[in-house]
Amino acid sequence: MRERKFPVYLDHNATSPMRPAVVAAMVEAFGLAGNPSSVHSFGRDARNALERARKIVGDSFSATADNVIFTSGGTEANAMVLSNADGLILTSAIEHPSVLAAADSIPIGATSFGIIDLDALTAALRAHRPSLVSVMLANNETGAIQPIEQVAALVHRTGALLHVDAVQGPGKIEVDICRLGADFLSVSAHKIGGPRGVGAVILREGADLSPMLRGGGQERRRRAGTENLAGIVGFAAVIEDWGTDEPKRLEKMRNALELGVKAVNADALIVADAVERLPNTSCIALPGIASEIQVIALDLDGIAVSAGAACSSGKVEKSHVLEAMGLDEAVCGSAIRVSFGHSNEDRDVERFLSAWSAMAMRMCPGRIAGPP
Ligand code: PLP
Repeated sequence: MRERKFPVYLDHNATSPMRPAVVAAMVEAFGLAGNPSSVHSFGRDARNALERARKIVGDSFSATADNVIFTSGGTEANAMVLSNADGLILTSAIEHPSVLAAADSIPIGATSFGIIDLDALTAALRAHRPSLVSVMLANNETGAIQPIEQVAALVHRTGALLHVDAVQGPGKIEVDICRLGADFLSVSAHKIGGPRGVGAVILREGADLSPMLRGGGQERRRRAGTENLAGIVGFAAVIEDWGTDEPKRLEKMRNALELGVKAVNADALIVADAVERLPNTSCIALPGIASEIQVIALDLDGIAVSAGAACSSGKVEKSHVLEAMGLDEAVCGSAIRVSFGHSNEDRDVERFLSAWSAMAMRMCPGRIAGPP
């Protein structure tokens, strides 16, 4: 009989299991009966919980509570900022689909290291005179951290505004709106163990946005609709519960995994490893074996990772990020993303390496082709 192995979740950049402290805080918030907009005592209790959470979320990004607009997640936050642009928009070509699809925009290429091409950005700023530029803080597929401070200086010199999709940053790297020099940040709760379906736009002091959803006066009249109170409380709870040593712990596991992979198969390639990356993310290509075949083989062995972006409806599409980096077709078609999080331990690295080595040995590179 086949030995039953414990399953290992290594897909935290897609979503991360909720932390117990978050669940506890949300259960308590579900008990609050009132609508935060109501004037009676039930409403006031709900409002207090909402405003306490707003302060915690704002503080964690060096913003005041007034500059936090809660949304239904990173996708809505991105859509809200981009829909506010009153002129041309430039984005990097490696943005998340929720940025690329939110508005018509001109894409700026990336280098083979996985970061935005600053020369191309400079030329595009001069040629197109955009009103808004949108560049992510860290790429969800490769983990490559973008040079946001440099981007901000270039963008502001032309009078344009800068939006930063910072969804993959919180808990892993510092996300300080002042230090980054961004006018708007998008953030989301579910990448580090908060609830799915809640996020925020963080505004620089003095920046403003018109509502995308209209009607009620919630969120200082900037986003109508009764607030997702339990979700917002959960967002604050994950920020309070996340340890400051966690990034180091994640990086240690990630580095051990990459060393192990290279020791097993010298053909394996770690994408974007020449630049600063998120401490939890590894994008590993094994030329000759299609990404989706690897994901299925690993899944059969109890290891959950993803291929390419793998973000929508379980569909595996070619990675626009790796393509924009100009990587070989063989690399683009054979990359998997491994992303660590709070639920992982050292033994998960061993389990991954044992499954990955068995897979790499079984599927002789060159002989196995992906599906047509
Ligand atoms: N931006 C980036 C970089 C992401 O990785 C994601 C989710 O994968 C999003 C935006 C969308 O966030 P949400 O799932 O909260 O809508």
